[in-house]
Amino acid sequence: MIPDHCRFCKGKLHEGTTEFMAHAAGEVIVIKDVPAYVCEQCGEAYYTTGTSRKIDGVMRDAQAKKLCMRPLPAGEVSLKG
Ligand SMILES: [Zn+2]
Repeated sequence: MIPDHCRFCKGKLHEGTTEFMAHAAGEVIVIKDVPAYVCEQCGEAYYTTGTSRKIDGVMRDAQAKKLCMRPLPAGEVSLKG
């Protein structure tokens, strides 16, 4: 659930939208326009239970390659080496 303040820095949370990024099936999935409460200090995003469930559903579809995704140019950078 949504805390009153950020769990990490105690910053204030603002209602808005964010992007959720994850790896699935060897690809990077970016879910746009995710409703979230975003910390004004550190940018940490908090999701309601309903939104988390929707994200889980999208990730499951992505793993199963059932999702119709728009290809997105992506750059990957490693801090290793
Ligand atoms: Zn914070």
